[in-house]
Order: sequence, then structure tokens, then C-alpha cells
Amino acid sequence: MFNDQILVMNRSWMPVAVTTVRRGMSLVFRNHARIVDHDSFDLFDWERWLAERSASKSPDEAPVAGYIHTVNLRIELPQVIILSRYNGVPNRSVPFSRRTLFRRDNHECQYCGGRPGVRNLSIDHVLPRSRGGGTDWLNCVVSCVRCNVRKGNRTPEEAGINLRRRPFRPSLMEGLGVGQDMPKAWERFLKV
Ligand SMILES: [Zn+2]
Repeated sequence: MFNDQILVMNRSWMPVAVTTVRRGMSLVFRNHARIVDHDSFDLFDWERWLAERSASKSPDEAPVAGYIHTVNLRIELPQVIILSRYNGVPNRSVPFSRRTLFRRDNHECQYCGGRPGVRNLSIDHVLPRSRGGGTDWLNCVVSCVRCNVRKGNRTPEEAGINLRRRPFRPSLMEGLGVGQDMPKAWERFLKV
């Protein structure tokens, strides 16, 4: 559906930011970026986009989602742009914290899948701390209190319980603050 955000990629097609249509378009107007067709990967400057992706309309036409409306024109709303010069990669790693870990694991126990509420959830070190396990993205999971007690000072294998999903560093999308409601057009650029 309609969204008012644009995905910004660096010169090497690597997503680097999510910005407002307004700011994204201003980059295009100043020739700092070009619009990317998310199906063909074709690149457009503003003149060409305007020539090929707009249609005339009657002044009293109701606004259609996914378009920019001017008095006479309905212009397809760009969803992805690529910067002409910038080739850097901003640091967008997600800081490790209780809050961000809970969000990564969807407030779900990673052993039994239960969602007993934050107060009954804890952080479990997959390899126990006492045995050198780190407090980081790759060794910590959300666990309900019951599973945590059952696992005790053991690895999941030793305790005979399964991890539903291997712990991971939150993805690029999460680092960019892109949620579940991500526009379809962005998907193929974000699956890296
Ligand atoms: Zn559990």
C-alpha cells in the first residue's frame, strides 16, 4: 500500500538508508541520485521518470495511492533510489541490549516458543557464562523462566532441549529500522 518512504542505496547497490519521499526526491532533483525501477533495475533521472512514469489526469480526479499528484499529472511514486557518488557503508549495527534482544526474538522463548510476557522471560546464555559463553548476539537468546531453569548450567544439547532458531546478529533491515510493513518493492534490494 501507500508508503511515504524511499529506500536509498549507495553507488554499489547496497542499501544505506531509509528516508522520506521528500528528502529522497530532493536528492533526485539535484542529480545526487537516480530513481531505480524495482522490476527492471532501470535507472531514471527526474526528466525521464516524469516522461515515462506519469499520466495526465483530470483536475477533479481522486488521489490514487502510490502516486504523486500535481494539478495535471499523476506521477508514479519512486520507492528506491541510488546515490550517484556516495559509496560508503554507514555503521548501522544494532546495539546489543536487553530490549533489542527481546525484539529480535519477538518476545518468544527460543526453546519452547512460549510467549509468557516480558516478566516471565529472561536472557539465556546458550553456552553458559561460567563456561566462557559471551553476552552477545550470537550466544544469547530469550528464554522463558521455566526453560531457563530446566536448562540450567548446560548447553541445549546437554539439557536435551532444542533451540528453535540459531541466535543471529540482527539483519540489515532491522539495522535500517525497516519493519514487517516493508514495501514489496524493497525486498529484492534488502535480501543480501
Ligand atoms: Zn520456554
